[in-house]
Amino acid sequence: MKTCTRCNNRRPSDEFYKSPNNSDGLRTWCKTCLADYHIERYAIKKDHINAVNRKYRVENADKVKRADRERARQRYADDPEKHKRAVREYNLHHPEKHRDYARAYRAAGKVNKEKMREYQRAYRERHRDEIAQRHRVHVEANREKIRMRMSNVKAQRRMAEGKVTTKEWKAILLFYGNSCGLCRVSASELPMTVDHFIPLSKDGTNTWDNVWPLCMPCNVRKHATIPTEDCPPHVDIFRKTGTFD
Ligand SMILES: [Zn+2]
Ligand SMILES: [Zn+2]
Repeated sequence: MKTCTRCNNRRPSDEFYKSPNNSDGLRTWCKTCLADYHIERYAIKKDHINAVNRKYRVENADKVKRADRERARQRYADDPEKHKRAVREYNLHHPEKHRDYARAYRAAGKVNKEKMREYQRAYRERHRDEIAQRHRVHVEANREKIRMRMSNVKAQRRMAEGKVTTKEWKAILLFYGNSCGLCRVSASELPMTVDHFIPLSKDGTNTWDNVWPLCMPCNVRKHATIPTEDCPPHVDIFRKTGTFD
C-alpha cells in the first residue's frame, strides 16, 4: 500500500506506475491521478501538445513507425479478431489511405500471389450472385459501346474509311426508336446489327451517315444490295440539326 500525494488515498502498489528514481520504486501519484492530470493538461495545452507530438513524429519518423508497427503486432497477438475489425473499420473511413497503402504494398512485391489467388477465389465464391449481377449491369450499360467497338474493328479490317462513335450510334438508335430501320421490329424482340447502308464491299464508308440499325433477318435479306436512296433516313434530319445530342 502507498499513499498518493495528489488524492491522499491509500492504494495498493499495483495502482502506481513504476519509477526507478524513487526509493520505493513507484511514482508518487496513483495511476488514476496521473491519467486525470494528463487529461486536464491536454485540455489546457492541446495545441502545444499536438504540435510537440507532431514535431516528434516527423523528426523520428522511423522510430515512430517501428513503434507503431510493434504496437499493432502486439494488439494482433492479444486479440486477432479485434485487431482485424479495427483495421476494417479504419479502412472503411479512410478509403484513400487504404488504397495508397495497398498499392505500395503490391508495388513492394510483398503480396503472396498464391495466397492472394486463394483469397480472390474465395471472395468470388462468396459473392457469386452479386458479381454476376454487376457484370450483367455493366454489359447492359456498355452494350452499344461494345457493339460499336466490334463494328469499327470489323470495318477497319475491311479497309473501310471512318469510324462511328458510340454517341453517334446511340443517337441513331434513338432516331429509329430502338427498332429495325426496315421492318421496325423492336430491339427488345430481335437483336439489332450495325448495317452499312451502302455496303462496305460497294465502297460504303464506316461513318455515321452510312450506318443504321437492322434486325438480323433484315440484315441477312439485304446483304450486299445497294439501296435506291443515297443514305439512310436519319441523315437529312441530322444534317439539319447538326447535333447528335
Ligand atoms: Zn491519486
Ligand atoms: Zn428488320
